[in-house]
Amino acid sequence: MRKIMAFLLPALLFAAAFPLSSCARPKARPRISYAIEAEYFPETRTAAGECRVTFRNDGGDALSVLPFLLPANILREGNSAVPAPYAPAAYYKGKNYGGITVLSAEGAESFSVNAEGSVLSAALKEELFPGETAEIVFRFETCLPEINYRFGVGERAVNLAGFYPVLCPFRDGEFLLCSFAENGDPYAAECADCTLALTLPLSYGAAFGGRAEESVSEGKRTFRVTLPSARDIAAVLGEGMLKKEAKAGDVTVEYCYFDDPSPEKTLAAATESLAWFGETFGSYGREKYCVAETDLPYGGAEFTALSMISRSLRAEDRAEVVVHETAHQWWYAKVGSDQFNEAWQDEGLAEFSAACFFGAHPAYGIGYRSTVEACENACRAYFTVSGGLGAEDRRMSRPLTEFSGPYEYRSLVYDEGVVLFDRVLLVAGEKKFYRALRNYCNGYGGRIASPAELSACFRRAGANVEGLFESFLTGKCVV
Ligand SMILES: [Zn+2]
Repeated sequence: MRKIMAFLLPALLFAAAFPLSSCARPKARPRISYAIEAEYFPETRTAAGECRVTFRNDGGDALSVLPFLLPANILREGNSAVPAPYAPAAYYKGKNYGGITVLSAEGAESFSVNAEGSVLSAALKEELFPGETAEIVFRFETCLPEINYRFGVGERAVNLAGFYPVLCPFRDGEFLLCSFAENGDPYAAECADCTLALTLPLSYGAAFGGRAEESVSEGKRTFRVTLPSARDIAAVLGEGMLKKEAKAGDVTVEYCYFDDPSPEKTLAAATESLAWFGETFGSYGREKYCVAETDLPYGGAEFTALSMISRSLRAEDRAEVVVHETAHQWWYAKVGSDQFNEAWQDEGLAEFSAACFFGAHPAYGIGYRSTVEACENACRAYFTVSGGLGAEDRRMSRPLTEFSGPYEYRSLVYDEGVVLFDRVLLVAGEKKFYRALRNYCNGYGGRIASPAELSACFRRAGANVEGLFESFLTGKCVV
């Protein structure tokens, strides 16, 4: 409560003076940077190299330990990356494992990894006082299992994401520590200035979010990519990758694919939705956006300036997945949220933004009202089934580890997320609704916003919907 009051007072004073930009706050440069140099070796399915992390302590207290998430270790033996229904499509060669081995942490006094393998704690040589910057250079080897997953060696392509240590987000004076979870994306990260120099066999192509400079030396190809203020830096690699490009205003939209029979259609969905979201929510703010067709056991996965979509998508589902993932460029890459405890915040908003896009573009044949009604029916069906099984818990707001499985996760986070934002739109009206989301985007771009900060943007736009959010998030509302 104190945190909200402390934030609201100056914000309200600012709102009185500049009512259309009432959520805006001064932009800060990221306090974190990653400079990664790595090589990928197909014969051992290993990415090896070093990751230089710098962190500026912007908090009020001295720090002695920096915690890093090790996303690749979700694929270690003993952990589970995908819910059982997706496992056959993911583990195409049967169960096998991978993970990251951190060999050294130069600049740290010592480091240790927890039993699950999710968090590496680096003890600093001396306390890091406010305003000071620490630098740690990790040497690592990340082994990718044979899996169709957001990081892994798939049947056709290699998804290289989460292969390096990621500093846990620092918020309200403490680091947010995530556990691994099968449902959703348990990998919240702060924006950081990222560079990646990735060396590959000459025969490999690569898809990146940022513009890549290429050079060839000693029979290998090195790509150098820069992504400022990015939540991650990821790539799709493979032989025989095809590319098409288009423009959305000044932004180059690239589609990298292997066997999409209608690549122009997929590229058009990416280009049109990127342009529309930019006009509706605020400028995309980067020179390039890339969609890559690759191996995933489900629809898609979002990264900064890069979306992965599954090769196994049916033609009629492809545009919906592309548009949903493109919306994540605003509700994930730009405005971050606590993906572990509040998955609805970016997923519900991305799904709802996609419904709005299709409502405004009738040529796709996906109506707004029919989408909302389908989500309402899906929620009711879920509650009928779960109520019959004795599960009455309707909370949308809960840690990923408290969803019983993909059916509950899908129903409460995506379907009910769409219903929530539809009700907010009904109460606010279109003008205030989109004004609030533009202010949310403008005020929290590059940051991690709480649910209270999201609903406060609607209040400041003139729509009092806090009670509505509360009733959905705590599970009191009946759809
Ligand atoms: Zn999503």
